[in-house]
Formats: sequence, structure tokens, C-alpha cells
Amino acid sequence: DGLKMHFSMKGGAFSRRQGVIKAVDDINFKIYPNETFGLVGESGCGKTTVGRAILKAMEPTGGKVVYQRKNGDKVDLVPLNQKQLRPIRQEVQMIFQDPYSSLSPRMTVQEILEEPLRLAGIKDKKYLYEQAKEMIQQVGLRASHLMRYPHAFSGGQRQRIGIARALITRPRFIVADEAVSALDVSVQAQILEILSELKEKFDLSYLFISHDLSVVKYLCDRVGVMYLGRIVEVADTDVLYNKPLHPYTEALMHAIPDIEERSIRSDILGGEIPDAANPPSGCAFHNRCKYCKEICKTKTPELKTFSETHNGEEILRQSACHLAEEIYLKQ
Ligand code: SF4
Repeated sequence: DGLKMHFSMKGGAFSRRQGVIKAVDDINFKIYPNETFGLVGESGCGKTTVGRAILKAMEPTGGKVVYQRKNGDKVDLVPLNQKQLRPIRQEVQMIFQDPYSSLSPRMTVQEILEEPLRLAGIKDKKYLYEQAKEMIQQVGLRASHLMRYPHAFSGGQRQRIGIARALITRPRFIVADEAVSALDVSVQAQILEILSELKEKFDLSYLFISHDLSVVKYLCDRVGVMYLGRIVEVADTDVLYNKPLHPYTEALMHAIPDIEERSIRSDILGGEIPDAANPPSGCAFHNRCKYCKEICKTKTPELKTFSETHNGEEILRQSACHLAEEIYLKQ
């Protein structure tokens, strides 16, 4: 089915120094070739944990992350150790949130860009330089920038360097966690433009994690909405934004009427946000949901697939709400 990444986690918990916390549960999504899949939600909903689990920056205690390699082999990344993961890291890379702290201040841009290739065992200096030069140009900077140190660059330029570093191993899949959140809006637009151009040029897929609904709407083909460690809705971007199929998504869209201001802030929906480590019984959204019924308080809704006709085409979408059909589809 052209699957590139299948992330599934049931009862998944993550070890942290403070002990084991249950940050995400029953997460299940697929990302297809040349697709940008957005993961949105309020801070603390577990979306960053999902991104980190993929490259094991955070150690999952259960679940599966099935990645389909270039040669077609499907491999579960969860049981692999760091050494076994090394060849996969060439194909799956990450763009970090903070362009100020993710680049080593003691390395030149050339050293920063060459590092992932050196880690892959490449030693040919001429080849390394040629690759660094090509990548720095791909992100709109100049070869002369390679000799400088990160402090000489603006936030937007540093994020371009971060993107060049992620792309230098010619990956197929990129996890971008809040990749433009630290930047000014005008610089954000430039970086989003670069990400979409590079997606086409290098045939990339992205997992784009963000709390910013306008950025996600601009960049993503499909979107998964997370609430307290679970995915509550998945749909094509246009469909999800125009016709939500889950009360949480609907509340997000209504709470932020100005499309330019669609950042998810924790105070916008009202109601107490429960503790993610100890979510409410039944549907975790029930204490904030205007449609809540008795069943919602005791039974956890599963993520169900619905078929709809949209502009004459059949589309599949998913919602984890007991009343999705009643509220949205029987009107
Ligand atoms: Fe609201 Fe019930 Fe649906 Fe949860 S299951 S979103 S509480 S209607």
C-alpha cells in the first residue's frame, strides 16, 4: 500500500528519570510516501513524545513503529538498539524546534552539515564538502556560509542550516517538531515554503508536529488531532478544517475564529485540562465536551473509520467519539 511509516502504540508508556509515565496511549497512524502528516494538539497532549519515540530520543516501553525501508523491508524500530538504528537514521531524520540550541556553537556550518555523513562512516573530504555545499545552497544560503559559526546567523538562517543537516543523508522521512514555532511569522512563511519545495524535490514525507493550526493547514495533507495522549480525529486537511468529526476538533476551530491566530492555547477551550498522566475515565474530553452523555463518562471511545462522500469522491476519516455519527453525520 505504499506505506512508509506506521506508528502504533497501545498502552504505550515512556520511561523518564522521574519514573514511568503514560504519555501516549492507543496511537495508531500511517504516513504514506510524499505525504505531510500533521499532528496537532495543546501542549502536553503527547505529540512531541510521539515524534521522539520514532527516533527513540525517548524510549517507548511498548508499541510499534514500523518503517518501510528504501529496499521495501518493513522494520519495527522499537526493539532496535542505537547501533541497529544507525542505518535507519540515514533515512529518517529530525528537524528540531529550537534553531538556537540545536546547532553546536563550536562547530562551523560545514562541520555541522558533514557530521551526519561522518557518522555514517564517510571520510572522503572532497565528497563531504561537495555535499555540504549542495545542501546549503538547497536551503537558500551560500557556500561561503559554510565557514562561519552558528552565532553569525539569524533564527531563520539557523533553521535553514538545521534543515540542510537533516537532508544531507538524503532521508525519505523527516520528523519536524514545532520546526517554525520559534520564528517570526514572516520567517515562518519562508521556512514553510522551503519545506514544501524540498518535499517535492527530494520526494520526502514529513511528520509535522505543531500547536499552530494555521501552519498545519498550510503545509499538511492529512492531520491527526491529539488530546491527552490519544488521537481523537484523523482526516484530510481540508475536510478536517471545514467539517470536523470530533467535538474537540470542533471546539478548537470555533475557539480560534481568526485563521491567522490559530495557535492552540491551553486556555481557549475553558474547563479544566486534566492531568495527562492520569486522564479522566471514559472519553478523556468528557469534562470539557458540550455533547457529553452518560456513556462518555465510563466507556473510552475507539478511533473508528467513517466513509463520506466529499466533492463526489469517497473519503475515509477517523474519529474517536461515541456520538460522531449522531452529532455530525446524521444532520
Ligand atoms: Fe464528547 Fe462523548 Fe464524544 Fe467524548 S465521546 S467527545 S464526551 S460526545
